[in-house]
Amino acid sequence: MKRVYLDNASTTPIAPEIIEMMTEMMKTTYANPSSVHSFGRESKIVVENARKTIANLLNTSPGSIFFTSGGTEADNMAIKCGINDNNIRHAITSKISHLAVLLPLEDLAAAGKIKLSYINIDENGEISLAHLKELLKDNDRTFVSIMHANNEIGTIQDIKQIGDICRHYNAIFHSDTVQTIAHFPFNMQELNIDFITASAHKFHGPKGVGFIYVSEDMQIKPFLRGGGQERNMRAGTENVYGISAMAMAMEMAYKNLEKEVVFIKGLKQYMIDQLQSAIKDVQFYGKCKDLDNSLYTLLSCSFPETDMAEMLLFNLDIMGIACSSGSACSSGSDIGSHVLLGIAPDSKRPGVRFSFSKYNTKDEIDYVIEKLKCLFN
Ligand code: PLP
Repeated sequence: MKRVYLDNASTTPIAPEIIEMMTEMMKTTYANPSSVHSFGRESKIVVENARKTIANLLNTSPGSIFFTSGGTEADNMAIKCGINDNNIRHAITSKISHLAVLLPLEDLAAAGKIKLSYINIDENGEISLAHLKELLKDNDRTFVSIMHANNEIGTIQDIKQIGDICRHYNAIFHSDTVQTIAHFPFNMQELNIDFITASAHKFHGPKGVGFIYVSEDMQIKPFLRGGGQERNMRAGTENVYGISAMAMAMEMAYKNLEKEVVFIKGLKQYMIDQLQSAIKDVQFYGKCKDLDNSLYTLLSCSFPETDMAEMLLFNLDIMGIACSSGSACSSGSDIGSHVLLGIAPDSKRPGVRFSFSKYNTKDEIDYVIEKLKCLFN
């Protein structure tokens, strides 16, 4: 049976060049980077070179990059350090933030450490800048966490403008950039952002490794206590091969960015056109259909209500098609999406998130369309 992987927003396949590099490195560069002998020094050089590569790609200094176990840890670090170490009593986020942001913020609010405000969003998931200004004006120094691109509906926020507003009100700004690092260019010199976060497995690197960027003027205390790695901020023996692979994946992504963006946008447009001609009343969430103003790697859509639709993902899976659910309602093992509940609470339509990478093809999309036609027509 043909198998088609269209769930790249969940995770991407590791690039073959990276698997090769990592396998070789596991054989040779196994020493602990904290060891002072020559083996250890070699590992340390690998880690520090990766830091320099990543910093260069973001146009920042290596000292502002700290390696983590992935996006969730990086988001938790930004929130906990940003808030606790700066005596912040008020935070702002949106209801469509990733749970790696929402839950630590809600925990701090439940513990009485902060007041948590949710910023108004429109039906596309776009935040209201006027409401942001109002919330900042009426409160003490605030921690703001607004994601760059939403992982379920692909809505992109203007982080340049949000950063400028936060700077004006002396607020701390964290942006969860897990879906956009290595997919969009970043120049940290032009952005007023205190923390951004990334995860290697979203751009053809391995799972279990990520990083946090912390701006130079941000004062934070150690997040994980122990052996003093990562200049004391995040203890734990470094994931040497993962860190090196992440830097390589990011370098590959930025080297070929223009070409890959054109290719993936082409796939997305093709899928939109095919879906519209194959299925009556297909709808697209947020600004998904707008190629230049949404995450080009992701297409989140909903289909007409039918009995069969309940089991849509299951049926697609049986046909070898991997994608994610995008439904506001709960059904079966699908507990429903807090993001879609935030923008389309009453919808009973079955939703699907298709997400693409450079490894997908038009043939694969044709296969998916053909199967969807069987299910819906
Ligand atoms: N933030 C966003 C927007 C994500 O899409 C994800 C992963 O799905 C995460 C955070 C968490 O990243 P990780 O899986 O590396 O912990």
